[in-house]
Amino acid sequence: MIRSKLNQIKNNIANSITIVAVSKTKPASDIMELYNHGQFHFGENKVQELILKSETLPKDIKWHMIGHLQRNKVRTILPFIELIHSVDSIRLINKINQEAKIINRKINILLQVKISKEISKYGFDFNELEQILNSDLLKDFDFVNVIGLMGMATFSNNETVIENEFNTLNNIYNRFKTKHSFKVLSMGMSSDYIIALKNGSNMLRLGSIIFGSRN
Ligand SMILES: *Cc1c(COP(=O)(O)O)cnc(C)c1O
Repeated sequence: MIRSKLNQIKNNIANSITIVAVSKTKPASDIMELYNHGQFHFGENKVQELILKSETLPKDIKWHMIGHLQRNKVRTILPFIELIHSVDSIRLINKINQEAKIINRKINILLQVKISKEISKYGFDFNELEQILNSDLLKDFDFVNVIGLMGMATFSNNETVIENEFNTLNNIYNRFKTKHSFKVLSMGMSSDYIIALKNGSNMLRLGSIIFGSRN
C-alpha cells in the first residue's frame, strides 16, 4: 500500500524534513489515499497535469512544480502554486515576478542548481549562482521570494559522485543562507534521498519509492 510505504520512510527521518510526494503520471486516487492520511505536499513536473489535478483535487493540497517551466506557462500555475523548485534563469524569475504582480500574490521559488555534470540537466551553474547570490539582484523582484536551492544528482551507482554533488550544493546553501534568509534545500529522490539527508537536505522529492515505478 502506498500509505504504508510513506509511513515507513517518515518513521525513519526527522520531523523537520518535508516530503514532497511526486505524483506525476499517478492517478488522483493515489493522491487521495495519502491526502486522507495527512500528506499535503505533492509534486508534479508538467504544467498541464499539475493544473488538471489542482482543479479536481482538494484545495488545501500544497502543489510543488518540480519540472522545467516555460515562461509562457508561468501565468497558469501562479494562482495556486505552493513552491516552484525548478527556476533556472533570471528571465524566468522576471516573468514570474511580472505575472505575480498582476495577481498580487507573492510566489515562493527555489533556484535550481546544476550540480550534475550530465549536460541535459537544467539549472544555474555554480559561477552564475554565486554571482547572483553575491549581488542584490534578487531584491529587485518584489513578488518573488527565493527561499532556497534545489538540485538533482547524477543518476549513478557511485555514491561518492552523488555525495560530492549534494555536499557542494549544501556548502553554497549554507554560505548564503543568512544573507538570503534561505529555508529550503530541496535535494534527494527515491534512489539517493539517504545521501541527500546526510548532506543537509530538508526537503525530499520522492516518487517511485512511494507510488511504485512509472511506465
Ligand atoms: C520525477 C522526479 C522526482 C522523483 O523521482 P523518483 O525517482 O521517482 O523519486 C524528483 N524530482 C524531480 C525533479 C523529478 O522530475
